[in-house]
Amino acid sequence: MKIILATNNEHKLSEIRSIFDKDIEVLSMKDVGIDTDIEENGETIFENSRIKAVYVTTELKKKNFPFPYTVISDDTGLMVEALNGEPGVYSARYAGGEGHDSEANMQLLLKKLNGCENRKAHFSTIITLIEEKASFLSHMMFFEGRVDGTILKEKHGTEGFGYDPIFQPDGYDCSFAELGIDLKNKISHRAIAIGKVAEYLAKK
Ligand code: IMP
Repeated sequence: MKIILATNNEHKLSEIRSIFDKDIEVLSMKDVGIDTDIEENGETIFENSRIKAVYVTTELKKKNFPFPYTVISDDTGLMVEALNGEPGVYSARYAGGEGHDSEANMQLLLKKLNGCENRKAHFSTIITLIEEKASFLSHMMFFEGRVDGTILKEKHGTEGFGYDPIFQPDGYDCSFAELGIDLKNKISHRAIAIGKVAEYLAKK
């Protein structure tokens, strides 16, 4: 089975490929001739996830990509309870600019939580799955993966990416960045969401 993942991000591709069974081939947007930066202008991670899957499906239809095929997309946010769910949909660009400045994002979050006792937070990943069976026969579904934890007072560990050094998942006494990439990829919000997608596809 072939699945098109609505990303050209190599890191995301390899993480998601490693979670799926070997009989599921995960193609990138580039692999199917789509080389665009999709504008993620939704107000929630749910909307951004849907925007990406719908964009890729629409482009594939324009190209007369042969049916049937499945498109999936993911969007993730870190929601901090004491900050009313911030940074949420703005997780990548919390500190401003073009985004993905993880150091600046973490420093801003630590500053906002300075002196705050409630450090509860969770990561949430929303995966949109669109099955295109034939012209006018498509099916959209959503899957969520969530990991609860706490925001540490300082950075710990060097592995992973994003907010990993300051996020400690419940049930562990170290940060995501100290867990080791293999273990993190087994218990992460993305892994939980992809696991649900894989379970759904296996039943078909
Ligand atoms: P994306 O939707 O996967 O691009 O994630 C948006 C932002 O959330 C990223 O730029 C990171 O800052 C943060 N993020 C997503 N997943 C993780 C993770 O597993 N660990 C730490 N930060 C993450």
